[in-house]
Amino acid sequence: MSEFIDPNIIKRIKNLREELHRHNYLYYAMDDPEISDSEYDRMMRELIELEAGYPELSSPDSPSLRVGVSPVKKFQTVRHSVKMLSLDNAFSNSDILDFDKRVRKELGTDEQVLYTAEPKMDGVAVELVYEDGRLVTASTRGDGETGEEITPNVKTIRTVPIILQRYKEERRIPARLEVRGEVVISREGFRRLNEDMLSRGLPLFANPRNAAAGSLRQLDSKVTARRPLEIFFYGTGESEGLDIESHWDRLCALKELGFRINPHIKPKIKIDGVLEYYSELERKRYELPYDIDGMVIKTDSIGIQVRLGQTARSPRWAVAYKFKAVQETTKILDISVQVGRTGTLTPVAHLETVNIGGVNVNRATLHNEDEARRKDIRIGDTVLVQRAGDVIPEIIKVIDSARNGSEKVFNMPENCPSCGSRVIRDEKEASVRCYNESCPAKIKAQIEHFASKRAFDID
Ligand SMILES: [Zn+2]
Repeated sequence: MSEFIDPNIIKRIKNLREELHRHNYLYYAMDDPEISDSEYDRMMRELIELEAGYPELSSPDSPSLRVGVSPVKKFQTVRHSVKMLSLDNAFSNSDILDFDKRVRKELGTDEQVLYTAEPKMDGVAVELVYEDGRLVTASTRGDGETGEEITPNVKTIRTVPIILQRYKEERRIPARLEVRGEVVISREGFRRLNEDMLSRGLPLFANPRNAAAGSLRQLDSKVTARRPLEIFFYGTGESEGLDIESHWDRLCALKELGFRINPHIKPKIKIDGVLEYYSELERKRYELPYDIDGMVIKTDSIGIQVRLGQTARSPRWAVAYKFKAVQETTKILDISVQVGRTGTLTPVAHLETVNIGGVNVNRATLHNEDEARRKDIRIGDTVLVQRAGDVIPEIIKVIDSARNGSEKVFNMPENCPSCGSRVIRDEKEASVRCYNESCPAKIKAQIEHFASKRAFDID
């Protein structure tokens, strides 16, 4: 067949593939794009069309795999050549100081040990294996020893390099490289995904981590390709040709090869710096676009990591310092309805005041009637409430065992609580709306929005 293919087509496909890999690298790993998103999309469309016309020119390394391939029947099992361990947890500054003491005792030194600290991403751990710079296998962590092979799904994630790049000439591409990362969905991506699920009448995801896990484990990678998955790489398994004796320097080398690493990592700090960084992360956590649930510290020296070794389940050279709980239980005293600037009615739960992570909380949003139904939230219920930064706290679930039969089911009103006009229900959007243009509550919300930071920023 191939003798009939115009050599210019073969050349064009090769060129498009190389260029798309390179632009992906510049955009995601280097944060230094050369072309616009629309130009990238145009090149991708051209490649997909050409490949569809010449299936004999298909390649397992093509950037067009970002859109997914034919579904598989079941996942294969993959054994990790180096066990993917879980980390021990610390819950206080004194736990961290104890950890540091144990490390120095084990090493028999009074000298300060240097740590590299990073945000603990709340996502799904995966391992990617590269041979001669090409992604050959990707798998979930599983039980740490074996996971599920999800290579086509991982290839759809834009922040995953399919082919490794050489940023500096002197940096060689490792012959074999096992690299580990955390797959996440941003809070914004999660919000859009759930809106989409809701509009199609599909069950909603409970949180970004569940959404990431569910999206990764799709037998049809075309579904995965439509999910807003991202990845941050944090370490390596076995590697040949990446002989670097510092954890941080290794991460920098990974970045040069095309792996995206978290921009908030604090390299090579002493133990007092570690504690400072923790408070900084705790303050900044909701400014980050994705969920984090703490901090991870690792001894920066790989030599020290090897000397300290590991227990059956976790390394002795790393620890996770978890954030304080942001969930508490309380009681729903009443449910009222708020009218937004577009006239949408939102049920709001009034709670018995409860302190969650240092802040008094007395109300929580129920988002919409469907969500209140789905979670079967009733007036008088004892509920688990979660606070996430500046956003209105949310009800995670009802504590069923606390019910005594006096709880009242909540129904959306037929009339707007502000102006009394009849509200209109949109089944498709699961929304209830007041369409009265002169509704006082709507106008008030519009003025508030107009003056808010997102619009004109008037005090
Ligand atoms: Zn109204």
